[in-house]
Amino acid sequence: MSESVKLKAKLGLDVFKPGREAHIKIRPGMEKDHRLKPMVRICPAGCYSENEKTEVMLTIDGCLECGTCRLACGMDVLDWNYPEGGTGVQFRFG
Ligand code: SF4
Repeated sequence: MSESVKLKAKLGLDVFKPGREAHIKIRPGMEKDHRLKPMVRICPAGCYSENEKTEVMLTIDGCLECGTCRLACGMDVLDWNYPEGGTGVQFRFG
């Protein structure tokens, strides 16, 4: 079994409980910021995508709360918070 398959199998064990609202948001008007573009490839959970207008979009379903996007983009691009208590990811791989 390859390393990427093992990782996907382990991530598949995690449980995600959604909060009332997204804990990470792209600040309005920052959807085309150059700091966001690499997140389409970098986010380990695949939460970022790019639409046909070259705007970066964010869906926090499956977010691992790793903080990579916070460090890479900064708080002037993202409104980044941890999920409210009792929501978010629960790691199950030991
Ligand atoms: S915190 Fe990590 S997993 Fe969540 S959106 Fe940012 S880069 Fe992706």
